[in-house]
Amino acid sequence: MGAGGQKAPLPSKPKIIIMHHFTYKAGALHAEDVPITTIADAVGTPFYCYSTATLERHYNVFNDALARFDHLICFALKANSNQAVIKTLGNLGAGMDVVSEGELRRALMAGVPGEKICFSGVGKTRDEMAYALKSGILSFNIESEPELTVLSETATSLGLTANIAIRVNPDVDAKTHAKISTGKAENKFGVPFKDALRVYAHAASLPGLKVHGVHMHIGSQITDLTPFKNAFLLMRELVIALRNAGHSITHIDLGGGLGIPYEETAEAPPHPDLYADIIENTVGDLGATFIFEPGRLITGNAGILVSKLLYYKEGEAKDFMIVDTAMNDLIRPTLYDAYHQILPIAEQQASAPKYLMDVVGPVCETGDFLAENRELPRLAPDDLIAILSAGAYGAVQSCTYNSRPLIPEVMVKGEEFAIIRPRPTLEELINLDKLPNWL
Ligand SMILES: *Cc1c(COP(=O)(O)O)cnc(C)c1O
Repeated sequence: MGAGGQKAPLPSKPKIIIMHHFTYKAGALHAEDVPITTIADAVGTPFYCYSTATLERHYNVFNDALARFDHLICFALKANSNQAVIKTLGNLGAGMDVVSEGELRRALMAGVPGEKICFSGVGKTRDEMAYALKSGILSFNIESEPELTVLSETATSLGLTANIAIRVNPDVDAKTHAKISTGKAENKFGVPFKDALRVYAHAASLPGLKVHGVHMHIGSQITDLTPFKNAFLLMRELVIALRNAGHSITHIDLGGGLGIPYEETAEAPPHPDLYADIIENTVGDLGATFIFEPGRLITGNAGILVSKLLYYKEGEAKDFMIVDTAMNDLIRPTLYDAYHQILPIAEQQASAPKYLMDVVGPVCETGDFLAENRELPRLAPDDLIAILSAGAYGAVQSCTYNSRPLIPEVMVKGEEFAIIRPRPTLEELINLDKLPNWL
């Protein structure tokens, strides 16, 4: 071929492999071995669909990376709290990190033993503490001194002892979205690093409490290992200082937060093996049980949101794909400016022309979008799409705004699928309201 005249090809963007079991087979998107259209015919759209093989793979990759440490993975239930998801992970040996009595009950109901459950969160109530104490949980992750006092009172009144770790705020910048950054001094979480020794001394003086660990969690969707390294080095300093002060620190809880790939063309977040190397080089020699609280990493890419195109609207500045799912079903694009890859369920030719469009839902809010300025092929009414990486902070954050019922959740395993949360009827939704006797 001649050198001259030819236009240089556009630089190809590096593609990363996002590991999941949602793939095209014979031109149709499948979840493992089940065609998405089969599920759509059975349950209607929209719906969430989770892949068991992907859930298990992500748990196992993380667990294998940490095999060199004495450790327990406590899945952060707030990322996805469906009973079937909890049970799938529980069967692999996972513990749970919960932030409310509701989540604690979900974990226990799915068969996770209390001794594998950590309770985090800045606003635990006395009732929640009492329930957790009676459930014999592994650890209360304490976020303030007033909370210490209330837990001490609650435990003493029940004649029980609470194992505690104090969440320390290391004041590091996790370099993530402001709404999911938790380890800066201005965030509401944890006690300041400089106060930690004093707060631990206070804790040790209170009845009903047994200091057993340290805890940190600096944020979510973290894709750079440096903030972890800086925070772990501070934890190392703290554990040594606490032991010198006579505290028995047997548990080091390093939180969650490791990011996942959302965009095909973005740089891949660090592999769990590299995260484990950082741990080895910072706190690895401290001789303790390490607790990890991953949420997104385990379920994020194990779920998709399937939706149907209602109308294709050609706008003046750009086009709109109006679909039957909305911000009330998946709020991440609206709340965190999150990017979710979108795939047509029917595989398109690579040569199919693409157009710039917004993918939007029916909710009456300008902020109601699933994707903005996205290049996608033009689809027709009733065509189905999959919104990928929707398995974490998806269904759990949904609501019924615009009187749209919560959408069903489906789990696939090999050639089988099951509805793991059915779609409520409109009657059920409306009948939650009760009229006062004067109307
Ligand atoms: C949200 C949360 C997690 C999980 O964060 P991911 O980014 O999903 O891994 C872990 N621990 C605590 C205390 C949390 O609040």
